[in-house]
Amino acid sequence: SMEKPQAHVIIFIFPAQGHNSPFLSLATRLHHYWPSLTITLVSTARNISLIRSSLPPDSRLRLHSLPFYPADHGLPASAESLADLPVPQFITFLKATETLYTAFDDFICNLVSNASNDAPLCIVTDFFLGWTVEVARKYKVFHTTFLTMGAFGGAVFFSLWWNLPHTLTDSNSFSLPEYPEVVMDRSQLTKYLLEADGTDEPSHFFKRQIMFLHETDALLINTVEEFESLGLGMLTKTLKLPIWPICPPLAPANQPSSSKSEDETAIMTFLDSQPPESVLYISFGSQNTIQQEQMMHLAQGLEGSSCSFIWVIRPPIGSDLRGGFRDEWLPHGFKDRIKQKHIGLLVHGWAPQLKILGHRSTGAFLSHCGWNSVLESMGHGVPIIAWPLGSDQIFNSMMLIEMGLGVELARGMMESSGPTKAKVEEVVDLVIGPDAKDMEIRRRAKEYRDVMNKAWDEEGGSSMESLQQFVQSINTAAANQ
Ligand code: UDP
Repeated sequence: SMEKPQAHVIIFIFPAQGHNSPFLSLATRLHHYWPSLTITLVSTARNISLIRSSLPPDSRLRLHSLPFYPADHGLPASAESLADLPVPQFITFLKATETLYTAFDDFICNLVSNASNDAPLCIVTDFFLGWTVEVARKYKVFHTTFLTMGAFGGAVFFSLWWNLPHTLTDSNSFSLPEYPEVVMDRSQLTKYLLEADGTDEPSHFFKRQIMFLHETDALLINTVEEFESLGLGMLTKTLKLPIWPICPPLAPANQPSSSKSEDETAIMTFLDSQPPESVLYISFGSQNTIQQEQMMHLAQGLEGSSCSFIWVIRPPIGSDLRGGFRDEWLPHGFKDRIKQKHIGLLVHGWAPQLKILGHRSTGAFLSHCGWNSVLESMGHGVPIIAWPLGSDQIFNSMMLIEMGLGVELARGMMESSGPTKAKVEEVVDLVIGPDAKDMEIRRRAKEYRDVMNKAWDEEGGSSMESLQQFVQSINTAAANQ
């Protein structure tokens, strides 16, 4: 029952690389299925120009930019793209976006007071832009938060930032107050969570966002209902809101303008030449890299294991990320040996991740467990060897282990040497290769692939149904105004 809502939907996008894609995908789908909706994307001027350049020329999405000057907040001028701000600056950046309040309030005020068809409204925003709920209340507009994390990752993240401090004395393991069934270990907390005492700036910021989350009218989540029943159950328990998991079918991510494309042919030829489910795909996402010593051990372990691999590799932490890759960062002769033996391929540019995960030769994914990578791996039935590097990635890894879909090899904040050569060999041989010791993990991954593909059906799939329910609620809210 597709209705014909006339509402004007404002989608306020937090200016950061990882947030543009899911928000744009939401906007595009809304426009496709409900062409009668008017949709305006709002963000900082610089982010809006980035978005404009990625939209097709005939796009009917409206754009509205809010002025934002990073230098006013002591941030580098490039801060608006955010990608590699260190955490203290990241918090400054998060807080600075609260200064968009006045400009956003003006924008909404104008729409509400002009008598054209621009009102009524629904505001969809990011978890990081919680204050927008105050603007929504002021003008009696339906407010929705769109969470780009997973449900389990989000629930754990909220609980950890809400229940501070985490000064654990006699025990290293503790359970979450709201979810006693979830038992965490001290080693799963980042430095910032361990240091947060509830009064510092990160604590303030995140607690404020969690408070706002209790005031929003509904929550959209970039996840798949059937895949995340655990996390969705947790969120339902603590947030008294409609929660709609609307993760769309997989589509390739937007490539950052700063990265070079890799030649796909070499990758596909390599995969074509390998036996089914025998290749380990290794990537730490679009921004992260590991330490040099960790890189060395990983390389040694890969050579010692029985699998072949495709490794998306960047200069190690601390080196010039824009400089070229230096062979001295890897074991002596590594590159030549893997080439000669035809067991591995190093990828220095942007990899076609979806194509690699979808290839029959790919048998496992060594991943930092960024949420998109998790969804993409599961959508292709590929089990994960987890090496999470920070906050929600660690919780995503926890969830995969809990569900029997992953094995954790290391955690980013553990000692700088990372996993030993022996540990890499052990885990890799457990999950992948003709003699994989854990055959169940691959069977379960394929089960979830099928479940997720059903959820993505245009007719009756859960993601589409959730989106319909969301649009119906906007309609109802608009009608009741
Ligand atoms: N990605 C890709 N090629 C690369 C690196 C990343 O296609 O070489 C894509 C990947 O498919 C995913 C996104 O970039 O869609 C990374 O998102 P994720 O949430 O996994 O990690 P993040 O980069 O945000 O840490």
